[in-house]
Amino acid sequence: MALENKVAIVTGGNSGIGEAIVLELARQGARIVIDYLFDPAMTETIEKQITKLGGQSIGVEADVSKLADLQKLADAAVSRFGRLDIMVNNAGIETRTSILDTTEAQYDKVMDVNLKSAFFGTQIAASQMIKQGGGGRIINITSVHEDWPMPGNTAYCLAKGGMRMLTRTAGLELAPHKILVVGVGPGAVATPINLSTMNDPAKLAHLDAAIPLGRMARPEEIASVVGFLAGDGASYLTATTIFADGGIMHSSIGL
Ligand code: NAD
Repeated sequence: MALENKVAIVTGGNSGIGEAIVLELARQGARIVIDYLFDPAMTETIEKQITKLGGQSIGVEADVSKLADLQKLADAAVSRFGRLDIMVNNAGIETRTSILDTTEAQYDKVMDVNLKSAFFGTQIAASQMIKQGGGGRIINITSVHEDWPMPGNTAYCLAKGGMRMLTRTAGLELAPHKILVVGVGPGAVATPINLSTMNDPAKLAHLDAAIPLGRMARPEEIASVVGFLAGDGASYLTATTIFADGGIMHSSIGL
């Protein structure tokens, strides 16, 4: 298996894209620390699924906006599985608020959960990878909105834009250590974060019509990109972002 003997942390790993990434990496043979904040029962269900696949995982409750909790994830990887090879900074939230109506508390939370977590998640993971030697992979789940404005979701765009530059800058800083840092920028994916759109047929039809491929992605279609980035086939990719967006960033009415 491609990721046999590799150990991964996936933040926000018990729902949506994170859950699909956990299962993809486990199918490829990695042992996984599944970070979660809510729903321990769901984490246990995923752990059991991985056991059935013949794999190994451990669920760890951790709030990624706190450095001590991020360290707890790295410590769990090392104490349970002996090392850390792949860090997936996936946890994220949005407020769907504009520049005019975002509160200080909303701003701080979006920045802390999306950007601060990825910054310090990268720092903590890279420190462990350097200590053990042999390089590693850091994969940041950003969004098309790292580069493509989304009016009405300003703080989220700022945070994802910050992750874009984290990926590029940390990618350069960590290259001498053979630690590759890559972003994955999904378009619209059918996950809990989009429930309000998915539950509104008019909104969903409007969204589907804006996507050249005509539909939202399934979480597995983002996880497969992460699976590739974690493996040998992605050995020359760093400091960049791979967009998996059904073409939405380049959609055009043809004028
Ligand atoms: P989701 O809501 O299922 O996943 C987000 C996860 O982050 C949840 O498991 C949640 O519990 C966790 N989380 C939130 N705050 C946390 C904290 N403080 N500590 C630890 N975990 C925390 O939605 P998703 O779509 O799977 O989102 C995953 C990532 O993908 C996010 O970073 C999101 O911004 C990004 N993304 C999603 C889409 C999409 O259309 N669904 C598009 C682009 C990017």
